[in-house]
Amino acid sequence: MNNNLSASDAALQPKTRRLSQPNKPVVTLLSLVVPFYNEEETITHFFNHVIPELEAISEIKFEIVCINDGSTDSTLQQLKDFAINDFRVRVIDLTRNFGKEAALSAGLDESFGDIIVPFDADLQDPVEVIIKLVEKWREGYQIVLARRIDRNADSALKRWTAAKFYQLHNSLSEIKIPENVGDFRLITREVADSLKRLPETQRFMKGLFAWVGYDTATIDYARKPRIAGSSKFSGWKLWNFALEGFTSFSTLPLRIWTYLGAMVAAAALLRGFYLMFRTIFFGIDVPGYASLSTAILMLGGIQLIGIGVLGEYIGRIYVESKNRPVYLIRNRYEKKEEDV
Ligand code: UDP
Ligand code: MG
Repeated sequence: MNNNLSASDAALQPKTRRLSQPNKPVVTLLSLVVPFYNEEETITHFFNHVIPELEAISEIKFEIVCINDGSTDSTLQQLKDFAINDFRVRVIDLTRNFGKEAALSAGLDESFGDIIVPFDADLQDPVEVIIKLVEKWREGYQIVLARRIDRNADSALKRWTAAKFYQLHNSLSEIKIPENVGDFRLITREVADSLKRLPETQRFMKGLFAWVGYDTATIDYARKPRIAGSSKFSGWKLWNFALEGFTSFSTLPLRIWTYLGAMVAAAALLRGFYLMFRTIFFGIDVPGYASLSTAILMLGGIQLIGIGVLGEYIGRIYVESKNRPVYLIRNRYEKKEEDV
């Protein structure tokens, strides 16, 4: 059979492509993309755990793309120390803290791998799961999601708010994001290249990952507590992150005001008729202070919420229209392979 399939032939024969993957090189480069923000306590532990585990995966070469997201502690120095000794460790130093989503985008842009796994520095996602992701990828999937089945490491409040977020997001948006799946997943070069084509500067990665589509498999794992240090996401940061998710992937919050407004107007009209007829048949009834003030306050409140929602979107249009880069790189540190 002709192995040089054209794009349309390949599309017609997904099974063949999936099972045999004729164009895949024997040794695959895996890029582990890891954002680091003030993670000085975790770094040594991280490399000591991750490197042997990656070395154990057969037919895989790997690189660890470390993004220093404007850390103010010794994170960068420690990362450089590892990169000096190991050509597989590359360090991308951003000019300031751009946030995890931007750091992850930088990592995807800078990685060379045929397959790419975004990973956290705190080892909350067990390294052993990576090999399971790779095994699933070998079955022919382009995206392998890692779903947290046990989130006991997270507080009850975080679990509850996360569940509510997914529920609300997926009911508002046409792009459904899989529940309990973080950024930890495996994607192929193809998927990473598609992600790079998405032009938005405000990058809600979970949503973007879902938007690109592709053949997706899921494996389950239990999430562990952090090995050291503390979470970089406060409640307020998470709330804004959730807003980012809603506004990036749904315009329903904007459009709902038309319907709400129509309903309130209809109710007001009905009440107007009612009052008119009551006045005609039963005369004028002066008291009404309470109902009047309640109606004014309630309508004022509803309007302010509506304006607030508009503001959320307009603010995002404003930021997006400036078209600023998602991140800036100050320096790259890596040892050349031939220097070894
Ligand atoms: N992180 C980052 N920039 C930030 C915040 C976090 O690069 O502004 C990194 C952090 O160093 C870690 C990962 O993102 O590797 C996940 O962060 P964290 O563990 O604090 O999040 P959680 O697991 O609590 O959601
Ligand atoms: Mg964490």
